[in-house]
Amino acid sequence: MADRRLILVTNDDGFYAPGIQALAEALGALGDVAVVAPDQERSGVARLISLGRPLRARPRGELRWTVDGSPTDCAYLAIHELLPRAPDLVVSGINRGPNLADDVTYSGTVAGAMEAALLGLKAFAISLDGRPPLDYGPATTVAVAVAELMLNRRWPVRTMLNVNVPDTRGEPVTGFRWTRGGLRDYGHTVTVREDPRGRPYYWLGGDRLGYYPLDGSDCDAVAEGLAAITPLDLDLTHEKLLAAMSEVDLPGFERR
Ligand code: MN
Repeated sequence: MADRRLILVTNDDGFYAPGIQALAEALGALGDVAVVAPDQERSGVARLISLGRPLRARPRGELRWTVDGSPTDCAYLAIHELLPRAPDLVVSGINRGPNLADDVTYSGTVAGAMEAALLGLKAFAISLDGRPPLDYGPATTVAVAVAELMLNRRWPVRTMLNVNVPDTRGEPVTGFRWTRGGLRDYGHTVTVREDPRGRPYYWLGGDRLGYYPLDGSDCDAVAEGLAAITPLDLDLTHEKLLAAMSEVDLPGFERR
């Protein structure tokens, strides 16, 4: 008899976050679920990998580990060492808060799925928009549907999906759109305050972020109450720019 499907789940909100617990439980309908996740919140660490210090993985039950590292560390360690076999799918999330547009470059959630995609595995990240308290139920239904879609199709290597789910206040999500990454307005604020010893400290980013409308974007879809699914290519090479630059010289160097 063939092995049951194995699905690896990770995140950046930490092993004990409600989003990953809800996700792991829901994906249990599709196969065996392993959870390897940071032992504390690691949001916004992007593709951080721990190369200069040891990592500890602590067993937390059957196919469950916490790791004192980043989402990338978790996916790497799970796939290369902890899991009994290669997972058929890797899912990262469900993140508390959206990962839209350029968020993918900051996101630890997206990074966890990226690590799996780089290793040739099927992977997606999933994030939930909205204000607390968040109800992850509707997003788990989206996660299971996307997981089934990926498990049942051939998938191009070094690609992944970035899924964002609107805040429906517990109501079912009824629609989705295939999207492109949108344009977020980060505000680019720096708040400067003084510490108790009279030295300045700096706090990056505002509290509420906006976005600019862009046809077909993930931001627009989520704002319309749709789940947004954006395919990402891990090859960041810009083909058009490469072609445009191919006859351009760099002064002082021989172009070969
Ligand atoms: Mn997070």
